[in-house]
Amino acid sequence: MVTGTFYMRNVPNKLAMSMVKRKFAKQHLQQLKKQCSEAGIKLTHQRLEIFRELMSVSDHPSADLIYKRLHKKHPTIAIDTVYRTLATFDKLGLVKKLHVLKEWTLFDTNLDVHHHFVCNRCKKVEDIYWPDFDKRLLPDVVKNIGAVHSRHLEIHGVCNSCLEIKRLQQTF
Ligand SMILES: [Zn+2]
Ligand SMILES: [Zn+2]
Repeated sequence: MVTGTFYMRNVPNKLAMSMVKRKFAKQHLQQLKKQCSEAGIKLTHQRLEIFRELMSVSDHPSADLIYKRLHKKHPTIAIDTVYRTLATFDKLGLVKKLHVLKEWTLFDTNLDVHHHFVCNRCKKVEDIYWPDFDKRLLPDVVKNIGAVHSRHLEIHGVCNSCLEIKRLQQTF
């Protein structure tokens, strides 16, 4: 069993949150342009729109959610294009595919080392930073299996909002 402290991403207020997001999106946009030109991929208008949408949604959108939101603004966009573009972004390392839910694949735009709390009720996925865990030596048995490239911790449970709903339902 692994012990240590962990904390959720904590941003003091909404303004700071939007500033962080804007800075984050700008860095990502530069990275997108660089990676695309290096890989010889044309940065089409549609790819750019998909990327913008990806950066503007909540932390871990599914491909379907990205498509639905884009389709409202750009009715000509095809679902295939969205899926293919997301796969390209994943290959370029601009997003990470997450398989924390059985139902669908999620896309993570946060490329910093972090872990996830998955709510089994509402399917919300929250980022967790746990430097103690990241620094911790892995058990020797891992060396006998192979070389480690990365480690990712998945915590499954029920989030506080869902617990509160359940508590209210029981009260009334
Ligand atoms: Zn929940
Ligand atoms: Zn994440």
